[in-house]
Formats: sequence, C-alpha cells, structure tokens
Amino acid sequence: MSVRRALVPGSFDPVTNGHLDIIERAAGLFDEVRVVVARNASKSPLFSLDERLEMLQDVCSPLKNVTVHTFDGLLVQYAIDCKAQVIVKGLRAVSDFEYELQMALMNRRLADRVETVFLMTGADYSYLSSNIVKEIARLGGAVEGLVPESVEKRLRQKLAEQRRETV
Ligand code: ADP
Repeated sequence: MSVRRALVPGSFDPVTNGHLDIIERAAGLFDEVRVVVARNASKSPLFSLDERLEMLQDVCSPLKNVTVHTFDGLLVQYAIDCKAQVIVKGLRAVSDFEYELQMALMNRRLADRVETVFLMTGADYSYLSSNIVKEIARLGGAVEGLVPESVEKRLRQKLAEQRRETV
C-alpha cells in the first residue's frame, strides 16, 4: 500500500498550541506529516524563517512521523514534488472558511489529485492565532497555555530584544 503523506502548511509565527493540536491530529491520521513553512510569504514575520523552523522542530520532535520543511512557490506543486496526497488545514471560525474554501478550490483546480482536508479546531483553541498571541505578549499579558513553553520563552526574548533596539 502507498504511504499517505500529508502537508500542514502555515507561517507559524510562532507555532501555537492550536497549530500543534492540528499537527498532532494529522499525525494520527496519516503515515507521514510534513509541516511546511512558506519561504516567500508576503507577511512580515516577527520571527525569522530559521527561528520558526527551530521552534517547530523542537515542539514536533516527540512526533515520530512528523518532519519540518520549507517550500518555495505553489504549495500544490510542492505537494506533487514530494508525493503528498493531502493538505491539512485547521478551521477556527466561519471567518476562516471563506478564505480556506477559495484556496482549496483553487488548489484543486491546479492539482486535482491533491485533496485538502479540514480539521475543526480544538475547543480550547478556537480563538487562538499567532497574531493574537504576539499582541498579548507585546502588551505584557500571559501567553501561558497558548503556546508551548519553549515558544513562550523565545517570545519573551524576542520582544525584549525588540524593546532594547527601540530604546
Ligand atoms: P495564523 O492564522 O495563526 O497566523 P498560520 O497562518 O500559520 O496561523 O495558519 C496555518 C494553519 O493553521 C491554517 O490552516 C490555520 O487555520 C491553522 N490554525 C492556526 N491557528 C489555529 C487554531 N487555533 N486552531 C486550528 N487551526 C489553526
């Protein structure tokens, strides 16, 4: 039987417990999961690509069928190149749905053998995004329980660095 390989794409700036929940559940559904970070994303991230990869590698290391990668260009082309049959996305709210539907339909048009599978967010994570975590941390709020401990530490360091730079 062929290996079922899935991609979990995102910007992961930084990885949150909501992302991790989706990655863990995908790891339970598929033989191999590749967490993939776009190199060419237009957003201007807080963490560099290497920092985001390091954090992901660290939190994914207990999951034996999960690896972390970057990709350039079209996600579906990357899926074809690495023989992944599935793209896994998390859905938090109706607001995610419209954009994700558009992306899934466009990706199917570009490559109809790559299927997009949606996993509903964990109940505890439906309000959680990387942006809100960064915002809370910037304003001095506690992000405990929202991101893995190692990420919490990196977030504190990064914001302290930024504050030093602006003084
Ligand atoms: P964010 O939207 O937090 O900036 P990304 O752009 O990295 O995160 O999103 C990558 C994927 O992770 C998307 O499919 C998004 O829906 C999913 N995702 C992000 N946060 C959550 C969450 N709290 N619960 C479920 N899925 C999530």
